[in-house]
Amino acid sequence: MLATLNDIFKMAEEKKIAIGAFNVVNFENILAVLDTAEKLNMPTILAFAQTHEENKVMDLDTIGPVMVLMAKQAKVPVVVHLDHGINLDYIEKSLKMGFTSIMFDGSALPYDENVEMTKKAVEMAHKYNVSIEAEIGKMAGITLNNEGITENRKSDRSNYTVPAEAKDFVEKTGVDCLACSFGTVHGEYFSEPNLDFDLVKELSDATGVPIVMHGGSGVSHEDYKKVIANGVRKINYFTYMDKAGGEGASAVCPTKYFHDIAKAGQDAMQKDVESAMRCFVNMD
Ligand SMILES: [Zn+2]
Repeated sequence: MLATLNDIFKMAEEKKIAIGAFNVVNFENILAVLDTAEKLNMPTILAFAQTHEENKVMDLDTIGPVMVLMAKQAKVPVVVHLDHGINLDYIEKSLKMGFTSIMFDGSALPYDENVEMTKKAVEMAHKYNVSIEAEIGKMAGITLNNEGITENRKSDRSNYTVPAEAKDFVEKTGVDCLACSFGTVHGEYFSEPNLDFDLVKELSDATGVPIVMHGGSGVSHEDYKKVIANGVRKINYFTYMDKAGGEGASAVCPTKYFHDIAKAGQDAMQKDVESAMRCFVNMD
């Protein structure tokens, strides 16, 4: 069934767990995530990132309606979320399609502009009774905005979210949850992740809203537990699921039929998603 982030955050807060937000760019991704959520009887988030349209991996017009339909048919609460929305018209398109949650990412903008634009996005989302996530601080790794990219893909401490600024941002904009930078990296880690757990707690206490962790792939299960204990309630996860799928598909190649490759990829992704989801919801 369709749910908003606010619906599932209540449960996540009570149980002190995090809900996984999995980026989906094909049917196998959607099946891997929904089958796992139903198996564990846990809510989940299907996300589509605007980046994937810019990079010509998949487009919102094609996969958006499929995500909404599959979420409606699921036996568990499923949020259909737009990840890293950059333009308000793109966000509005997803809302009209029936998405139940959006992210506006103005983190590459100067602070005041980010506040102004986020306020507009909040107004738009709340008009549709939909929850909204925004971001301050800069994440390392590749994103549409090329925010905070560093040569060695290490997170630079000067780009971390400042608690006082986060508090001010939430008060001024009225966002439902906040993506913060505290050491994670988008995409693959080329060195050991070094997360600032104390900062997560400070951000959670200062803002009073659920904290969202981007760059969730590749973090150790021990570290997931620590950030969840300190207030992270949504974890964005994609790269390692996608890698698992690639490895699973490669293992059956060469093969004659495409459906064998797709199925092998889906099964491998499902295993990876299950391991992550079990950790996020304390079922490991
Ligand atoms: Zn992100």
